[in-house]
Amino acid sequence: MRLDKLLANVGYGSRKEVKKLLKDGVVKVNENVAKDGKLHVNPIEDIITIHGDQVYYKEFIYLMMNKPPGVISATEDYHEKTVIDLLDMEDSVLNPFPVGRLDKDTEGLLLITNDGGLAHKLLSPKKHVPKTYFAVIDGVVSESDIDAFKKGVLLDDGYPTKPGELKILKSGIRSDIELTITEGKFHQVKRMFEAVGKKVVYLKRISMGPIQLDENLMLGEYRELSEEEVEQLK
Ligand code: URA
Repeated sequence: MRLDKLLANVGYGSRKEVKKLLKDGVVKVNENVAKDGKLHVNPIEDIITIHGDQVYYKEFIYLMMNKPPGVISATEDYHEKTVIDLLDMEDSVLNPFPVGRLDKDTEGLLLITNDGGLAHKLLSPKKHVPKTYFAVIDGVVSESDIDAFKKGVLLDDGYPTKPGELKILKSGIRSDIELTITEGKFHQVKRMFEAVGKKVVYLKRISMGPIQLDENLMLGEYRELSEEEVEQLK
């Protein structure tokens, strides 16, 4: 591929900025200064450096983050910290974005990628990708809620949800539950509980399709998906 395209793809700026780097003579291909962006390089075999740092070419990046509360699932924001702000530079230069959204106060599994095709597939309503949440509910969750969710509930805007699978882990004044849904309406889990007169006080996503949140990830940490995990998603 063309050297200028490769450099732009891995985040070294616009074509114009890349042109300047080349002109400045700071880009080397196999130890030779390269000033011509049209030069054809092999991203796997050729050793490309900028200011002596090797450029690693990766077209796609697939990350799982344990999203902490207090950050938003967006790529940039003037006021709020975003999940992309939590990434190391070497990952954020590849321009990844979160696959769908978790509310600011929701924790847990968030996939982050720059593979638009895969993101589209995971988010497509037609694919019904299951998402499982752990939640703490203010109030007693009972069998009648399991039945209501199984049938689908009416959200505040009149939308009838698809069936959700509710498991009660602990029932009491505060109940622990797991809910699996196949849609991603705005605030869906919170609104489904509102529909049965209850309030979510803590929410964490624990899986999306075949991918489970890695329990070794502390809040705010992330890791690359393994090749196997990426394959499972495709
Ligand atoms: N449902 C919600 O209510 N909030 C989330 O962040 C995700 C699902």
